[in-house]
Amino acid sequence: MKVVVLTGAGISAESGVPTFRDADGLWEGHRVEDVATPEAYVAQPHVVHRFFDARRAALAVEPNPAHHALARLEEHLGDDLLVVTQNIDDLHERAGSTRVLHMHGELLSARCRACGGRSRWVGDLGDFPPCPACGVGALRPDVVWFGEVPYEMDRIEVALEGADLFVSIGTSGAVYPAAGFVQYALAHGASTLELNLQPSEVSLLFHESRQGLAGELVPAWVEELLAPGRAQ
Ligand code: NAD
Repeated sequence: MKVVVLTGAGISAESGVPTFRDADGLWEGHRVEDVATPEAYVAQPHVVHRFFDARRAALAVEPNPAHHALARLEEHLGDDLLVVTQNIDDLHERAGSTRVLHMHGELLSARCRACGGRSRWVGDLGDFPPCPACGVGALRPDVVWFGEVPYEMDRIEVALEGADLFVSIGTSGAVYPAAGFVQYALAHGASTLELNLQPSEVSLLFHESRQGLAGELVPAWVEELLAPGRAQ
């Protein structure tokens, strides 16, 4: 069975990483237009850097049972499982998942606006450090801001086309193109399941939608899938 799992901010909420739609559409108290758009970066680069530097520093949290359950599922399914995450945290990897695509980029990566090179980055970017590849002080967070094109769309589409099961976890269904994956998977014959705290904007499109905490729903679903005779 080929499974594609889409995760959003809700899967990391129980680890202590706040989602943003639950807080009146603000991301840690900021309007996304002010901190997560190319226009904001041109207008106020220091503000944008301070925001993402703070998010990077806040990664000192631990994966929760939902992340661990997906890592356990990968142990069983191997290449037949792909996790596509909208999250920019590294909690899937720290739980042990290796087949993860970060369609909105990663906090622990910096991208050089001068040479295009990518570098693993754990410190701050707000003091405009030199790019390790070209030496120019033009590094930006390697995250996809609103209005930019998500990463890995070709690989994601191929995976959705071949999926037997598409599962969406902890995402509001408000941010496209991710919110459209359920329709794409359905059009290619997949069964679809949503696991979210509350009905999302696209819940009605799924074959099944379960409401509750990801830390409880995801381990229970993985147990079901791994029950003898299910995940072949
Ligand atoms: P979102 O904030 O728009 O929606 C989160 C969804 O998760 C909501 O529907 C909410 O009901 C649900 N939820 C909250 N707590 C939950 C829990 N404990 N268990 C299950 N579901 C829970 O998130 P989104 O749809 O991922 O879109 C947000 C965008 O913001 C993404 O593109 C992402 O890049 C960015 N973001 C990332 C992080 C992160 O990396 N952890 C955090 C905040 C925002």
